[in-house]
Amino acid sequence: MIYFDNSATTPISEEVANAVISGMLSYGNPSSRYEAASKSKYLISSAREYVSQLLNCKPEEIYFTSCGTESDNLGMIGYCMANKDKGKHIITTQVEHSAVLNTCKYLEEQGFEVTYLDVNRKGMIDVDEYKQAFREDTLLVSIMAANNELGTVFPIKKLARIAHEHNVVFFSDCVQYTPHFKTDVQELGIDMLSLSGHKFFAPKGVGIFFKREGINILPIMHGGHQENNLRPGTENVPYIFAIGIAAYQLNEHYDEWGSQEKELGQYFREQLMKEDFGTLMNLNGYIKDNVPGIINVRFRGVEGRMLQTMLAEHGVCCSVGSACSSGEQKPSHVLKALKLSDKQANESIRFSLNYLNTKEEIDETIKILKSCISMLLMNE
Ligand code: PLP
Repeated sequence: MIYFDNSATTPISEEVANAVISGMLSYGNPSSRYEAASKSKYLISSAREYVSQLLNCKPEEIYFTSCGTESDNLGMIGYCMANKDKGKHIITTQVEHSAVLNTCKYLEEQGFEVTYLDVNRKGMIDVDEYKQAFREDTLLVSIMAANNELGTVFPIKKLARIAHEHNVVFFSDCVQYTPHFKTDVQELGIDMLSLSGHKFFAPKGVGIFFKREGINILPIMHGGHQENNLRPGTENVPYIFAIGIAAYQLNEHYDEWGSQEKELGQYFREQLMKEDFGTLMNLNGYIKDNVPGIINVRFRGVEGRMLQTMLAEHGVCCSVGSACSSGEQKPSHVLKALKLSDKQANESIRFSLNYLNTKEEIDETIKILKSCISMLLMNE
């Protein structure tokens, strides 16, 4: 198998799998008061410490959740509900993950108003348009740091500074950014952010929410006192410890993993450009500062879903740039935001690499890609 779908999820590292096992063996409830409980409590506090080192914040500013989606909901709903007397306007973009877009929809139903910023053909927002979007009653900005389909990286530091000039809190979905780029919340000026464990070698079903001290939010679930009264429910000790170890490893290896991913991403793009696929090939939304390993590509006249299925039959795992909704293929909202037609959006597929991939896998994939495309074009 050749795995080029790391934006969908990553494999679990051996160290992280071992961390899950130690967390499982430590069965004491962290809220109890005896020896077995203090081991669980210790695993959680070590994880909090590692994550705070990853983000350069205080351990008390880290909250563990069940996933990136929950962290997005907690940050946005929790903040808007706690501060609704201060304003009702939210600024976001059209290309956010559904975890943010559908949370915006929910907040609209609760009486909030949302501006969805447009992007250009490369997937980038216009900073002047962003500046103009602020209103007297703007309460929150929620803009992702890196896009999951295109890998486009937004100028978060600048966007956060502008939000602060308007006294507005800046939330960022960093689920696809932090696995690739150092995320120092002090330097970037991020007030709240979300992360998902399974995008950086931790298990699925565990997430991180960061909130700067002093920012007031309400819980979105109601129950016990866990996670400083913000996220009730007995802690998932194995997965929390696992995400802590994954955060530690990521922090230790940023430069090494990052440069390997960069080299591989560049090599993949070069090999794609060199080839004649018998049809027009375009990279969707690629800019200089992209996440290096995310390659979203379109082959004219080749249906993305068919191509993905054929590649999978040859052992190559990648994603289509479209989401399937109730059995009907709907073009991706991100690709539509680039002003692609439905047909063009449906001709797109995404490869997402990480440092574990090799140039040999890329060479093999290009060969398979060529033969799949020529078969699909023949059958047209
Ligand atoms: N935000 C972004 C940008 C994502 O890519 C994803 C998952 O793909 C999420 C949020 C949701 O994360 P999770 O799968 O942990 O709920």
